[in-house]
Amino acid sequence: MKKLVFIFITTISLSFSSKTSYKTDDAAARSSKALHSVITAKPMTPDSVIALLKSGNRRFYAFKPLVMNDSLRIRLTANGQRPIGAVLSCLDSRVPVEPVFNMGIGDLFVARVAGNIGNEDIWGSLEFACYVMGAKVIVVLGHEGCGAIESAIDNVKLGNITAMLAKIKPAVDAVKMPGDRTSRNRKFVHAVMVKNVELTIKKMRKDSPIIDKLVKEKKIKIVGGIYDVATGKVTFL
Ligand SMILES: [Zn+2]
Repeated sequence: MKKLVFIFITTISLSFSSKTSYKTDDAAARSSKALHSVITAKPMTPDSVIALLKSGNRRFYAFKPLVMNDSLRIRLTANGQRPIGAVLSCLDSRVPVEPVFNMGIGDLFVARVAGNIGNEDIWGSLEFACYVMGAKVIVVLGHEGCGAIESAIDNVKLGNITAMLAKIKPAVDAVKMPGDRTSRNRKFVHAVMVKNVELTIKKMRKDSPIIDKLVKEKKIKIVGGIYDVATGKVTFL
């Protein structure tokens, strides 16, 4: 069954990725419905969801996305939702999460906060996504050129931003890189950004016994990802 689903997905991906544009709105609507049918087909596993996210991102950065949001998709999701995964992403305007994974209405839960950090509100949202609603994967998505990471490195202090950046500081302190430890050092900024994703995942599992149990029972997977604002590509950690 799983193999058949993947063959179906591959067929859809190939048949539409070879086209540079859609001939008609009807064709686009059919593609959206077809992929939605695959996405909502059971059983989904954490690994099959990760595969879908990877193939969706490949379509995105190849500039050959399927049209995912249309009137048909709105109608298909009007009476309920069954998202396959959840993404904790930065606030940055250059990281539009659903398009990045070529997902549409009803496909993903998305939590966004500067620096993709967490607190009880974020953990509670992700517990809802996975424990209550059955999402199979949590992606913690950092990105290159993150202003929140740079600000934490440079000790920016301003209003509530100060307390927010304090949650990124453990990542700054954890990177033991000699030399320039300011945002001018791009290698240092990159290393802190990656470490921040890793520490967010670690803290999520520590602060949320519900999520940690789901991982241990292999019902969900948590993965880190790094989005490149220059290419659109997500590199999974
Ligand atoms: Zn950012």
